[in-house]
Amino acid sequence: MDKIIESKHFYCEICRALVLKIVFAPRCWTETELNDVAISAETDQESGDHEVWVIGDTMDLSDEDAEHPSWKRKPFSKKLEYIRPSDFNKRIVNAEESHCK
Ligand SMILES: [Zn+2]
Repeated sequence: MDKIIESKHFYCEICRALVLKIVFAPRCWTETELNDVAISAETDQESGDHEVWVIGDTMDLSDEDAEHPSWKRKPFSKKLEYIRPSDFNKRIVNAEESHCK
């Protein structure tokens, strides 16, 4: 069964270049599951200078800002990290604002 892979793109405020892409991995929690989504989405074959992240689901549904397993595939990071949405948003804003500076 093929899953539809959803992604979201973020662009430089000034030049509109793609700076960061998130690939969503719903109902994925483990390194293996996130890796499978990354392979399906061909994140590692993307060209360009933007960052690509695969972001899974949280274990803690009671906390709106609970950490999500997040794996930076480009530039490739060996390990996934656990990042709160509020912290991830800061990374997005930083990527959008720092590109042309
Ligand atoms: Zn720019």
